[in-house]
Amino acid sequence: MSKTLFEKIAAREIPANIVYEDDVVLAFRDINPQAPTHVLIVPKKLIANLAAAKPEDATTLAHLLLKAAEVAQKLGLVTSGYRLVFNVGPDAGESVPHLHGHILGGRQLGWPPG
Ligand code: 5GP
Repeated sequence: MSKTLFEKIAAREIPANIVYEDDVVLAFRDINPQAPTHVLIVPKKLIANLAAAKPEDATTLAHLLLKAAEVAQKLGLVTSGYRLVFNVGPDAGESVPHLHGHILGGRQLGWPPG
């Protein structure tokens, strides 16, 4: 099976501005930022999206959430606030079939989202 875009980034086959990495997750700046800070955090293990996650992915998902909070803190977003978004499916605009959380911050974010 061919690699997803984010597997290629994790394998350094496609360059990215990586802000955090460990054995389980990778966080890197979005190529088309929607806020002054826009970072994607992905599991290295391929999970297509949240809807495809299985009970055995629980540890990976918990780790990803905790590391998203750490990355947001490292990027100075805790006091001002930030949003963590998982787009799932066409209505949400999901475009890469590899689970990813968007960490967005650095400006006032509108609600409800568009
Ligand atoms: P989605 O729309 O699936 O929720 O989010 C996919 C995100 O991946 C988009 O925000 C898009 O800008 C980002 N993206 C697409 N291609 C690349 C790339 O080659 N490098 C990086 N860093 N981000 C990408």
